Amino acid sequence: MKPAPFAYAKARSLEHAIELLEQDGAKLLAGGQSLIATLNMRLSSPSILVDINGIEALGGVSREDGQLRIGAIVRHSEAERSRDIAVHAPLIAAAMPHIGHPAIRNRGTIGGSIAFADPAAELPACLLALDAEIEIKNGTDQRSVKAERFFTGLFETALGPRDILTAIRLPIASGSTRHGFAEFFRRRGDYALIGLAAAAQGDGKDLSAVRLAFFGIGATPARAAKAETALAGGVDERKTEAAIAALESDLDPSDDLQGTGVFKRHLAGVLLRRVIRQLHEPRR
Ligand SMILES: Cc1cc2nc3c(=O)[nH]c(=O)nc-3n(C[C@H](O)[C@H](O)[C@H](O)COP(=O)(O)OP(=O)(O)OC[C@H]3O[C@@H](n4cnc5c(N)ncnc54)[C@H](O)[C@@H]3O)c2cc1C
Repeated sequence: MKPAPFAYAKARSLEHAIELLEQDGAKLLAGGQSLIATLNMRLSSPSILVDINGIEALGGVSREDGQLRIGAIVRHSEAERSRDIAVHAPLIAAAMPHIGHPAIRNRGTIGGSIAFADPAAELPACLLALDAEIEIKNGTDQRSVKAERFFTGLFETALGPRDILTAIRLPIASGSTRHGFAEFFRRRGDYALIGLAAAAQGDGKDLSAVRLAFFGIGATPARAAKAETALAGGVDERKTEAAIAALESDLDPSDDLQGTGVFKRHLAGVLLRRVIRQLHEPRR
């Protein structure tokens, strides 16, 4: 199938992109890895694509006000190689190689992945685990939305039609920050059947501020609050079992083409056991 006809404009700056986005039916084009497929399948028929690739203000990785700021058009491959991300946001670095294949990571962008909000995508769950903020520009207004409130439904987010996701902001990892990441997939490069991104504070013995964000289990990534509580303090086999048992009430995965809800809940427990082990490893 071919896409419905559309116009194309390359934005010269963020201000120019904002101006172009005023047109009815305008849509942003970032890496195009998801958008072009939806156009080809006629799931979307924008009147004009506003190309934001090359806008300097949307790129770069920097440390600002105690946070790590990653620009929206930073490509997955750039993030994968970034020393700043490896050191200051190791959970993102751990998740990166799981996103598609190298060819997809060479074009796909951080902002595109978060705006698209695929329920099986890695980055939205990482943002939830890290209590990240999403920076949004609309005309001259600028706002910041916590990941917790950003992912609102299946492929739905807090972004409106005139909003541009400009960057994400993450807390900078300290010496006591721990992270864990694991997922199940059928073939390397596939979207995950189910995955888990986790962050915590640890002193080698006890864990605190545990945040567990599962993905591939429903319309949006979801935290497992009871399992998080069960893991606070020193973690031993009894607590690990209690946390896995708590997933029964934390998660309600539905049946989908990848497997039944019962199967996914079982996999969630296996992932949690693996991730608990990672949370106890000293920071590399
Ligand atoms: C074969 C294949 C396998 C893949 N596997 C995975 C995987 O395992 N895990 C995974 O997470 N992803 C996977 N992806 C998706 C990939 O990560 C995409 O890069 C990502 O979903 C979209 O990023 P993009 O930059 O290509 O955005 P685009 O496709 O250009 O845009 C996607 C949507 O986001 C909007 N958008 C883009 N940028 C912004 C912005 N700055 N502000 C507001 N809206 C914006 C667009 O208007 C569009 O609606 C896969 C893709 C393919 C084709």
